[in-house]
Amino acid sequence: MNECGVDRTCRENVLAIQPYVPGKPIDECKRELGIEHFVKLASNENPFGASPAAKAAMVAMVAECHMYPDGGSYVLRHALASHMDLSADHFLIGCGCAEILNMLAETVLEPGDELLYGWPSFSTYEFMANLMKARSVQVPLMDFAFDLDAMAEAVTSKTKMVIICNPNNPTGTVVDATSVERFLDRMPEELLVVLDEAYAEYVHDFDYPDSRKLILEGRNVISLRTFSKAYGLAGARIGYSVARPALTEAVNKVRQPFNVSSIAQAGAVAALADQEHLRASVQFADKGRAQLYEAFTAMGLAYAPSWTNFVLVDIGIDAAKAFDELLQRGVIVRPQTSCGLPTHLRVTVGTPEENVVFVEALKDVLAAMR
Ligand SMILES: *Cc1c(COP(=O)(O)O)cnc(C)c1O
Repeated sequence: MNECGVDRTCRENVLAIQPYVPGKPIDECKRELGIEHFVKLASNENPFGASPAAKAAMVAMVAECHMYPDGGSYVLRHALASHMDLSADHFLIGCGCAEILNMLAETVLEPGDELLYGWPSFSTYEFMANLMKARSVQVPLMDFAFDLDAMAEAVTSKTKMVIICNPNNPTGTVVDATSVERFLDRMPEELLVVLDEAYAEYVHDFDYPDSRKLILEGRNVISLRTFSKAYGLAGARIGYSVARPALTEAVNKVRQPFNVSSIAQAGAVAALADQEHLRASVQFADKGRAQLYEAFTAMGLAYAPSWTNFVLVDIGIDAAKAFDELLQRGVIVRPQTSCGLPTHLRVTVGTPEENVVFVEALKDVLAAMR
């Protein structure tokens, strides 16, 4: 029995939603364990940080905080348009691309519809389906990557939306442009394909899908990008989508009038203008990944080669227990048990020093647990 009949008041599918489990906050760990210094490598935050110009723009915008922001994010949409050589009406700005995923669910999914995606992937996709009383159809990854052939086979007359997480979180793998185009060729016209490209900026020297080209071809796709990862603005909460103007306009109808703060908009405009900082941020992640790979290889641990700022590593022992042991040693990572990967950890690329702290702690834990 639920208190005060909450079970009868609330939508059944909402009560059934499993709460999102975020990376464990540092303050909570400090309180619980009484450890003063923590290294948090659990939420793919970027320790390289935001562009100094973005920080300055946000500080300057604080003076305007008594005013509502420009709900239409005019300046940022035009800056993105010139950056990508598209028009402003291709862009929608969200409070992180997490909000745009929610808006897409509200715009597209009816109860009973199918939302198709690979698994393991980003847990928000399951949430989107539950929110709308739609059905999640999860297609197992192949060699840690999205299996687009199997996904195309899984499409039914009820499938309304497909999500390709590229690079995929938590595996770090990518699918190439040719595979995506071949997949799109097989999709019915009315089916929306979401390209979740939260880590796109990290991909280089690879035949990565060109979402601009796909959109100009008139494909039914929407590409999601964020300032949270490579741009280092996770706390500002701002991301965007790129799609044909008609689709963008439809999704924009469910947007809260003032969904993105003026501070976040100012930060994003300045961050976008500082591509030098972005390149340095990507190099920082490249170097940190190489550092982790080298350590994993020396320890005899298998990992999935990643195109992001995190690495999925198979530690060969119970990852949930190893997570607790690492916590005792002041390191927060992300076990992948709930994704059906009981011996894998996802670790965010930290600073060179943080990576060393993690590697040493992991060696210690493996020695103790093996
Ligand atoms: C981080 C992430 C997002 C969302 O990021 P926002 O901070 O909401 O912009 C979306 N998809 C994937 C796969 C992510 O890892």
